[in-house]
Amino acid sequence: MPAPLLELPSRESVTTIRADGSRRFLFPADARGRFTLARLVVGWMLLAVVVALPLLRLNGYPAVMLDVAGRRFHFFGLTLADQDLWLLFFVITGLGFSLFFVTSLLGRVWCGWTCPQTVLLDQVFRRIERLIDGDAVARRALAAAPRAPGKVARRVLKHALFLLVAAFLPCLILAYFVSWPGVGAVLQAPADHPVAGVFVVAATGVLWFNFAWFREQLCIVICPYGRIQSALIDDHSLVIGYDAKRGEPRGHAHPGAGFGDCVDCVRCVAVCPTGIDIRQGLQMECIGCAACVDACDEVMTKLHRPTGLIRHASQNALAGRRTRWVRPRTVVYFGLLLVGASVAAWAVSTVKPAAFLVTHMIGAPYIVDDTTVRNQFFVRLVNKLNSPVRLVLHVNAAPAGLRQSGFADAVEVAPLGEVVLPLILQQPRAGYTGPFLFEVRVDDAAGTFHLARQVEFLGPEAQLLREDSAASPR
Ligand code: SF4
Ligand code: SF4
Repeated sequence: MPAPLLELPSRESVTTIRADGSRRFLFPADARGRFTLARLVVGWMLLAVVVALPLLRLNGYPAVMLDVAGRRFHFFGLTLADQDLWLLFFVITGLGFSLFFVTSLLGRVWCGWTCPQTVLLDQVFRRIERLIDGDAVARRALAAAPRAPGKVARRVLKHALFLLVAAFLPCLILAYFVSWPGVGAVLQAPADHPVAGVFVVAATGVLWFNFAWFREQLCIVICPYGRIQSALIDDHSLVIGYDAKRGEPRGHAHPGAGFGDCVDCVRCVAVCPTGIDIRQGLQMECIGCAACVDACDEVMTKLHRPTGLIRHASQNALAGRRTRWVRPRTVVYFGLLLVGASVAAWAVSTVKPAAFLVTHMIGAPYIVDDTTVRNQFFVRLVNKLNSPVRLVLHVNAAPAGLRQSGFADAVEVAPLGEVVLPLILQQPRAGYTGPFLFEVRVDDAAGTFHLARQVEFLGPEAQLLREDSAASPR
């Protein structure tokens, strides 16, 4: 059976969704050229980094590991306890504004070059498919062919490999939480780790569905960032664009015969992984992969015409107007990026090798007896280091007469361990003047760092206490 011809996209509808709502499957042709090669190198470098991070060890721990169960989070040698997670807000905000800034300048570079969906689909799953099913023409023909042993065998082999890669990805994600030895333990005895086991199975199914069938629909229909970019990009942003002034009117004849440089070969459409015709103008489906740039450059080179009929350019540049790099939105995004990065850098610099929390014990907030007003606390000391630390506790800035008990002056906390101690403070009634703030200070016995926290000593109003004493003399 002959392969169906390439259907030309219309700007009025989504290419991959037919009028009756059914899916039109795409068979993007292979592009060759400098951007395709650069994306291959960038994609595999990113994949190598993502696989290597849980394997690399810094300060005795994986370079990145989110040990949720142990409430320790390791980032490139820096260990955070759960109390430090607030600083991730600033790190994530800073990264978000970086993305805004880059998009306003360079368009959808994230989508086309670094998004895991694009990298995995283009560099892994489509390559497996290419290897087994052949090029775009062969794949289209195979899809249209009736079921036969050869077709079934190819399908089984392809989906077995897809499932293998899809199963590896949740294990990789899990390695960021439990390390690779932890993943090994889950795989050897999934019944002993039901949550992790269910995650691996469910995520494998979702990823297989996504990369085997759903594919570009995720970018076109689901991903919110694709929509957000419409608001981030303007006519000065660098996007992939077709030079209509040079290319039109398109046709097969020589430029001298009244035609532009576009010979209407539709190679740019054939290679597009989202099924659009960039000659119809910038569209939301364009992920900026530059496959159409390489495809058109190859055609132009063969025709001995200048390359760049489709190229990276702003909408203004394509229309013959000036491109402005510095404009209100890039300045604002850059300012926000600087603020986010500065606060994140400051937040990271405040992280100490230990942390502590002081909380009132459950029950009455204070106890008044014949002679004292008493407050009872728990002090939770957390060691974030791989070696034991010896911590010394002090209560400072307290009124005269405050007595403390419940913990030794110096406490040893095991590597990555924590110790919870009672702290009982008693203020004689005679010297009590109402609730007050005091400081709990924790010093490293080796003198390398100290931590301090203000805590409130609770009690009745001094006047009420005096009236109570007068009413019931002791
Ligand atoms: S690849 Fe270039 S020449 Fe061919 S149709 Fe697209 S824009 Fe025209
Ligand atoms: S139009 Fe070009 S850059 Fe945009 S998604 Fe299609 S091939 Fe990639």
